[in-house]
Amino acid sequence: MLTIPALRFARSLTALSLLAFLVTTACRSPQGQQSGPADSRPVVLTTFTVLADMARNVAGDRLQVHSITKQGAEIHGYEPTPSDLEKAASAQLILENGLGLELWAKRFTAAAGDVPTVTLTQGIEPLLIEGDAYAGRPNPHAWMSPQRAQQYVDRIVAAFSGLDPAGEESFRRNGEVYKQQLQQLDRELRSSLDALPERQRLLVTCEGAFSYLAKDYGLEEAYLWPVNAETQATPKRMARLIETVRTSEVPAVFCESTVSDKVQRQVASAAGVRFGGTFYVDSLSEHNGPAPTLLELQRHNVRLIRKGLSPQGQ
Ligand SMILES: [Zn+2]
Repeated sequence: MLTIPALRFARSLTALSLLAFLVTTACRSPQGQQSGPADSRPVVLTTFTVLADMARNVAGDRLQVHSITKQGAEIHGYEPTPSDLEKAASAQLILENGLGLELWAKRFTAAAGDVPTVTLTQGIEPLLIEGDAYAGRPNPHAWMSPQRAQQYVDRIVAAFSGLDPAGEESFRRNGEVYKQQLQQLDRELRSSLDALPERQRLLVTCEGAFSYLAKDYGLEEAYLWPVNAETQATPKRMARLIETVRTSEVPAVFCESTVSDKVQRQVASAAGVRFGGTFYVDSLSEHNGPAPTLLELQRHNVRLIRKGLSPQGQ
């Protein structure tokens, strides 16, 4: 048993350890890491991961760039969380795609108050959705054309130069390097897709997200639904697509990473063709996946197209 002075000593030890614990805890960030100097670079938010990749290529290390939606997220009908809205309000700049892509953009930018929002497709002549309930509306997936993606880069360079005028020269230089990479990509995709035989140039996907790519490289497209905002594979749409696949003699169909491929696999089996794999369009893959950047995303998709549509599966 402890004597009274020993008990007091033990209690004061406990109080001292508690104090030490509180002091240590206060010096740590919520993630349990030692706090360091805060990152004071301006914060740029993008609505999805592909735009964040493009923006980082221009920003270099002068700005922090974050995407609101994460890899694999469905981006058309996304519901911003309270934490997303807080992030919007404390950012210095928001980059969105526009052309009706982000159905949630209004709510998001309203929460951002007077944070400037730049629409990257402004000035781009959009392709229009043909047929179906969306006929006549702009197709928002313009980044899928390496030619048009260069117009996004110009808009990003101008937006960043307004945000951080001292970095203008650096943004312009980074933008030029990135545009050269997109031009190289354009040549690569063209020579790769030019090799497809005339009878097998039909690209069958879940979403009609490949119109820009198809137009640039002379492909036809057929899909289950025009935009992911309503991922509705009605029996009528399914039957129509099965019929198209059968009559076209195309050997494979595809689907995208941000939606379920279940219905497209049924189309493949009903039409007697292969399911050719998963494309990336509305989202990059994880860092160690097949499409961690826009350039790799395009190369991955075109490899799948070549493999699926070439006569010997080249
Ligand atoms: Zn989409």
